[in-house]
Amino acid sequence: MSTPLVLVTNDDGINAPGLAALAEALAPLGDVYVVAPEREQSTVGHALTLHRPLRVDRLAERRFAVNGTPSDCVNLAVLGLLPAEPKLVVSGINHGSNLGDDVTYSGTVSAAMEGTLLGIPSIAVSLVGPEQGGFEEAGKVARLIAMRTLVEGLPAKTLLNVNVPGGRPKGIRFTRLGHRVYKEKMVEEKDPRGKTYYWIGAGPPLWDDREATDIIAVQDGYVAVTPLHLDLTHYGALRRLGDWEAPLNAQLRPRRKG
Ligand code: MN
Repeated sequence: MSTPLVLVTNDDGINAPGLAALAEALAPLGDVYVVAPEREQSTVGHALTLHRPLRVDRLAERRFAVNGTPSDCVNLAVLGLLPAEPKLVVSGINHGSNLGDDVTYSGTVSAAMEGTLLGIPSIAVSLVGPEQGGFEEAGKVARLIAMRTLVEGLPAKTLLNVNVPGGRPKGIRFTRLGHRVYKEKMVEEKDPRGKTYYWIGAGPPLWDDREATDIIAVQDGYVAVTPLHLDLTHYGALRRLGDWEAPLNAQLRPRRKG
C-alpha cells in the first residue's frame, strides 16, 4: 500500500504553534502536506474567497501559505496543490476550544466540513487551554483518532470535532454538541472621536450543563469527540411542516373563483 497523503490546515495561520504540533504528530501516518492561511482567520466560519485572486506561497516542498480562508486552503489543496487527493484532512490544533454551538463560527471546524464535502474523511482538533501548552498531548490524541479514521473511514457526510482539555486528558468520550447560553450583554462605548462602537461576544461563555455534551466532557478533563453531520435537513420538521405546502401554494397562486 502506498503512503497516504494527509492534508493539515488550520485557522490560526501558517505560523501557529498548534499547526506545527499537528503536522509533527501526524508525520508517522503518511506524507503530511500543510496548506494554511498566511494569517489568522479564526471565526471566519465557512467563508470562501470568490471575488479576488488567491495567492499561494510555497514555503517548502510540502508547506504552502494562502492569502485566504481555511476553506479556501482545503479547496486549493484538494483541487490541485497536492500531487494526489489526500486520504485525510485534519484541521488544527486550534488555539482555543470549538465546543457546542460555537462550531458554526469556527474556521477550524469549517475546514474539516470542506474536506467532508469534498468526500474526504476529516477531523477538527482544538485545544481548550492553549496558554498552558499541551499541544504535544493534543497531537498524540489527534494521531490516535486520525490513525483509526484512516483505517475505518467515517460515515458519509460526517466529520469528527475533537476538543482536548489542557493538561493530561483523563480519557476520551464520544459526545454530542452542548448549547451556549447567551447571557452576555452587548458592550456599547464611544471611540476617541466620539463615535459609538459595539462589541459582541465580550463576556465569558456560559453553557448548559446537561449530560453527555462535549462541554461537560472537557470540563471533566476528558477529550470530547463529537461526530457532526453535514446534512442539516431536519427530517422531522420536514414531515411536520409539509402541511404548510398546500396552503402556501394556494396563497401564492390563488385560484380565481369562476
Ligand atoms: Mn483559531
